[in-house]
Amino acid sequence: MFHVKHFAREAGVGRLIVIANQKGGVGKTTTAVNLAVGLAANDRKVLLIDLDPQGNASSGIIADTRLTELKSSGKTIYEALVGRIGLGEVIRTARADRLDLAPSGPDLVGAEIELATREGRERVLKQILAPVRDTYAYIVIDTPPSLGLLTLNALVAADSVIVPMQCEYYALEGLTALLETIKRVRTALNPALQIEGLVLTMFDGRNRLSHEIAREVQKHFPEKVFQSVIPRNVRLSESPSHGLAVLEYDPRSAGAEAYRNLVAELIARVDGKAAAGPQGAHADEGAGRRTWSLRALFARDDERGKR
Ligand code: ATP
Ligand code: MG
Repeated sequence: MFHVKHFAREAGVGRLIVIANQKGGVGKTTTAVNLAVGLAANDRKVLLIDLDPQGNASSGIIADTRLTELKSSGKTIYEALVGRIGLGEVIRTARADRLDLAPSGPDLVGAEIELATREGRERVLKQILAPVRDTYAYIVIDTPPSLGLLTLNALVAADSVIVPMQCEYYALEGLTALLETIKRVRTALNPALQIEGLVLTMFDGRNRLSHEIAREVQKHFPEKVFQSVIPRNVRLSESPSHGLAVLEYDPRSAGAEAYRNLVAELIARVDGKAAAGPQGAHADEGAGRRTWSLRALFARDDERGKR
């Protein structure tokens, strides 16, 4: 028993991270899938939970043939949330040994309504996750583009939140509402909830606006923004239709390189926190030297400015 607890603290066992942003199409699912696959590739046991009725994380990680069977099986996260079956029956192997999936199904749309009148409706996910939590090093939850009851359940269950932010004009708009929601969740339902970090996604180096957004986010959230930046990369948009993360579909692509950096940075942050040591700072240094890092981008900008 002692051994398990010790290990839990050392390696961040059961770290539950929610990927959230109520804005649609900012890269939540892409980030959730690639973090899950990337963490598994780093020898972490991972559970990916698809909490979006759109089911993009499920289809992005499982090939079509298996997916059809899976959706019609009546064993999705929806059935577990409404108490029809146990979560254990919902969880499938997505990648041998290392990565499991709790898939979503279209019925999940109804869950918000079905749960709405139930007492403790915000804690349902936390409760059903409790028995499996410590069997995973990381649990990653993909959420729908809203701050409804599903996202709220994820925030109540979570240790931390990662917010993907698209490098576009209205990126910062809406962030206030999300931060306000996180604050309210902390006060009323989950005092330990942290912001793991903000990730800049769909960065386009040729677009001035992308650079401006990156600077703006860095200025406002210097402690929170991940150094790893995710570029706009066509391989990232192709990979889901093959049921693969970009890390598997095209490991040499810029998108894959960027998500590998993000995974390394996340592990360093989480392990650094667990050990209360300086690893986090080291990891940032490491990411800073790589191509897809904020520091490298800003350095190139400054260099260009001087010329
Ligand atoms: P929703 O709010 O609908 O759930 P989302 O926030 O989960 O959307 P994604 O589904 O990850 O966003 O991304 C939206 C679209 O953009 C998808 O088609 C995805 O393949 C594509 N995409 C995501 N990230 C990138 C990127 N860095 N470069 C190019 N295309 C991307
Ligand atoms: Mg999505």
